Amino acid sequence: DGIGMARLAWSRLPTADGAAPLPEGPAASAPAQDELFVGAVESLDYEVIENYAYREEQAQRSKFWVPYYIMLKWFFALLIGVGTGLAAIFINLAVENFSGWKFTLTFAIIQHSYFVGFLVYILLNLALVFSSVYIVTQFAPAAAGSGIPEIKGYLNGVDTHGILLFRTLVGKIFGSIGSVGGGLALGKEGPLVHTGACIASLLGQGGSAKYHLNSRWVQIFESDRDRRDLVTCGCAAGVAAAFRAPVGGVLFALEEVTSWWRSHLMWRVFFTSAVVAVVVRSAMNWCDSGKCGHFGAGGFIIWDISGGQEDYSYQELLPVAIIGVIGGLLGALFNQLTLYITKWRRTYLHKKGKRVQIFEACLISLITSTVSFVLPLLRKCSPCPELETNSGIQCPHPPGTDGNFVNFYCSKDNEYNDLATIFFNSQDDAIRNLFSAKTFHEYSAQSLITFLVMFYSLAVVTFGTAVPAGQFVPGIMIGSTYGRLVGMSVVKFYKKLNVDEGTYALLGAASFLGGSMRMTVSLCVIMVEITNNLQLLPLIMLVLLISKAVGDFFNEGLYEEQARLKGIPLLDSRPKQVMRNMNAKDACKNQKVVCLPRVSRVVDIVSVLQSNKHNGFPIVERGQNGESLVIGLILRSHLLVLLQSKVDFQNTPFPCGPGILNRHNFSDFVKPASSKGKSIDDIHLTDEELGLYLDLAPFLNPSPYIVPEDMSLAKVYNLFRQLGLRHIFVVPRPSRVVGLITRKDLLLEEDGNTATTELQSTSV
Ligand code: ATP
Repeated sequence: DGIGMARLAWSRLPTADGAAPLPEGPAASAPAQDELFVGAVESLDYEVIENYAYREEQAQRSKFWVPYYIMLKWFFALLIGVGTGLAAIFINLAVENFSGWKFTLTFAIIQHSYFVGFLVYILLNLALVFSSVYIVTQFAPAAAGSGIPEIKGYLNGVDTHGILLFRTLVGKIFGSIGSVGGGLALGKEGPLVHTGACIASLLGQGGSAKYHLNSRWVQIFESDRDRRDLVTCGCAAGVAAAFRAPVGGVLFALEEVTSWWRSHLMWRVFFTSAVVAVVVRSAMNWCDSGKCGHFGAGGFIIWDISGGQEDYSYQELLPVAIIGVIGGLLGALFNQLTLYITKWRRTYLHKKGKRVQIFEACLISLITSTVSFVLPLLRKCSPCPELETNSGIQCPHPPGTDGNFVNFYCSKDNEYNDLATIFFNSQDDAIRNLFSAKTFHEYSAQSLITFLVMFYSLAVVTFGTAVPAGQFVPGIMIGSTYGRLVGMSVVKFYKKLNVDEGTYALLGAASFLGGSMRMTVSLCVIMVEITNNLQLLPLIMLVLLISKAVGDFFNEGLYEEQARLKGIPLLDSRPKQVMRNMNAKDACKNQKVVCLPRVSRVVDIVSVLQSNKHNGFPIVERGQNGESLVIGLILRSHLLVLLQSKVDFQNTPFPCGPGILNRHNFSDFVKPASSKGKSIDDIHLTDEELGLYLDLAPFLNPSPYIVPEDMSLAKVYNLFRQLGLRHIFVVPRPSRVVGLITRKDLLLEEDGNTATTELQSTSV
């Protein structure tokens, strides 16, 4: 058609040497960088490949297609919210109930024997952690870790195999229940972001074909770009569900994970987060009446610290800044240590197989259980503070009931064990206790320091085990401990100030997350949303800014570090300084471009695909005067579809005639998200078929992006990053210009005419 021809003509530019290098034999060499990210990751095609099949499909669409498409996007945004909300409720319900039963049983037993109680406690934890690591290693390896670095990579344009599959979703949900319920030093919030992304991706591709859970009616999101938008909604939904922080979820998606943002997307993400908030709230209301076992008021993250400090004085800015600095230092140290340990694990431990991974997780579970049970036993109990009779606070209270004054292994009846309230408790309850607003100075510095050192070490060691693991909650626990310590010092040295230690715990939590994850705005909003305390917003902003600045001085954020370690080639939003002094040609030095002729022999295509791992090949054609013209780019995945279907094979080495193009529709070329896709080794061709020809023109992208060889690399980087490209052709300076497009040429009326006359008159 006319549009197609125009595009073909547009892309007919000579190659770097003036003549396109037709492949001299099939085995053209692949560059050394090839080995860099072998197998595990593959770029996504955010650029729509406007090949013949695509254009055909566009032309055949009815007028109802666009409204249906828009409606379905919104409907999916709704489903993502409902699905993620339900997943969050299910995980929380299961974790709270498992933890609740575990602690109730243990506490009941320790009334008679501490030793038997200890054994039951570690065995229950071990069973839960074993279930988690077993699910992950045997069934869903991609469910290990938080999943946020991989999702960040996906939204940056890189697909990690296995990360968005149905079994990963199932592994993530059930694995999180085991790992969090088993008391490891990790949280369920990162996994919930991954869960939301998996739900979104599965909906986007119309379900899981492998498990026959799909429908053609909803398979209309065929481009990676549409799926990217849905996955962004899923990430926001994950945070909104994890923290009951809908606005925080939107900002998290915007600040932390996604690399492209549009106002349309903002609305949809906002809508999804709002849906999550409603679903989660409905569940909470339903469970309030005790229908959900141990999952009740304390069953979801919301650490209401109302009743605490409502204002601050200028003298507090210094201690608050100190909290920020500590957060930056400890956060950066956490990132560095986890980086070293993850590297070491990969090199020496995880290579040895799944059994070693299972053994490692079980060993860490045993250590964590032992430390959390035994350390409080070694701690001397403190006498109860003087409490007003109508305060509603009980001291001491029996183990297994809420509060800060648990009588755990205390010799006297009116004593409590402060370390037990944070160490020998579920994480959510421990945080609630650390944040608690009424200042009774219930924690001793000794207990807090013991907890800080031990929990920090456990969190570092646990990070990277083969179980689903988030870092938000451990980060909050670590931060709130030293925050509370600083708060205690402030109370001691600034006696006149009305300072609340729980408030400082909150600031500490914000500072550690800022120092490790390097988020600012989203974290600030999340902290405000989960604590219902708006008064302290300026202080939270201050600690976040300081901790991020201090952390940035030492290393990158946790997710960026981990993404790099996993071989995910993330592109930052800005090019490196050195790129300003380089040009496009420098970036592809010594490259021997592997091209294919328009009509290629099947055997040659097969050999090219076997000889390298590139995913895109320029297609060249001999012009009428014998010169070579580049007519587009074909993707490896599309070549594989053609080789497998065989319907386009022809006997003659000439361009095909009309009619041959009706054999495919666009969806044939769509690859399911995060699947490995086809491999050339899976395709079997007879000798006869290998001798046939294939005309590639209808299947190529006729308008790939091109840049002149002397364009600065920084400019190429920005183009690549901003448009979400996968390939750019580098070409010599064109010899002539056929036209020039300005802003005004793009202001088209509905009938296709330019609206320039009026504009020109006004601009004069
Ligand atoms: P992606 O991995 O992002 O999907 P790709 O697989 O097409 O893209 P790689 O093979 O990963 O590209 O690229 C590795 C190196 O090979 C890069 O330096 C790239 O410029 C180069 N390269 C890619 N395609 C070709 C090709 N057809 N001929 C020669 N070099 C290529």
